Amino acid sequence: MIFSRAVFPAFRPRAEHRPTGTRPTSPHVRLRWLGTAGHVLETPGATILFDPFLTRPSLARTASRPLEPAPERWWPWLPTRIDAVVLGHSHYDHLLDAPTIALRTGALIIGSRSTASFARAAGVPEGQIVEVPPQGALVPVGDCAVRLVPSLHGRVALGRVPFPGEVRDAPALPARVHAYRMGGAFGIHVTTPGPTVYHNGSADLVDAELAGLHADVLLVGLAGRRATTRYLERLTALLSPRVVIPTHHDAFFAPLEAGARLLPGIDLDGFFREIARSAPRARVVTPTYDDVCAMPLAGDARGLTVHPR
Ligand SMILES: [Zn+2]
Repeated sequence: MIFSRAVFPAFRPRAEHRPTGTRPTSPHVRLRWLGTAGHVLETPGATILFDPFLTRPSLARTASRPLEPAPERWWPWLPTRIDAVVLGHSHYDHLLDAPTIALRTGALIIGSRSTASFARAAGVPEGQIVEVPPQGALVPVGDCAVRLVPSLHGRVALGRVPFPGEVRDAPALPARVHAYRMGGAFGIHVTTPGPTVYHNGSADLVDAELAGLHADVLLVGLAGRRATTRYLERLTALLSPRVVIPTHHDAFFAPLEAGARLLPGIDLDGFFREIARSAPRARVVTPTYDDVCAMPLAGDARGLTVHPR
């Protein structure tokens, strides 16, 4: 534990990055962080999950055994109704729990061929699986339009993408960590009745794929960002976000109840300085696991408030 506290320092958000307030009474759009690159997006007419990963086995367990979802441990963290689970890529820290959530709620599971292969292996009915080709897709979900945007995976492991390749056929489950191949990466752009949202769950991008897109709110993956040249500068120049929320900066080897700790080398202070330079008018918000970010349906997304869930 002393070792993990030294390697994974506690995440202590600054007060100016948690604009506290009360839950709005008028219709609004809500975002809640589930740890790692996982988020819940709730609008008046849709509930969408991005990359929900909640089982979070220990590092030793992850390295030594097949990985099994443990929904009894984390089910209360999720909303009761879920319309879609959208996957940016199929590494275990994004995909492991998604088929279980789809099976229990009837939600669509939307992602690459590899994501679809894992969903089929878990027994998710074909009618709930949306297999997205490498060139992306636009999928309507309730009052939202979900666009999967071709992207790249950050080179997070000594300058490389871990576990590359695709899973074309249903794998045997439970599978070991290395069976969860990356399978191609997508950014997730969502048009809602309020602010537009872009989830960049891994720290790289394809500039040309983002031409013409705007995001009021940018969920920006930080793990391994230094390996991508001018990562934050390029992403913010293309999307012109009003609100920037970091994601995938926390250690994911202990239950959510243990609180957020940072991955080694994340350098949040450096991230704040980079955003101040590249997107000086954007508001940076760093929620904890217990926060809900509530955004107005009309007007500037910077008018968001953060309140307990
Ligand atoms: Zn990954």
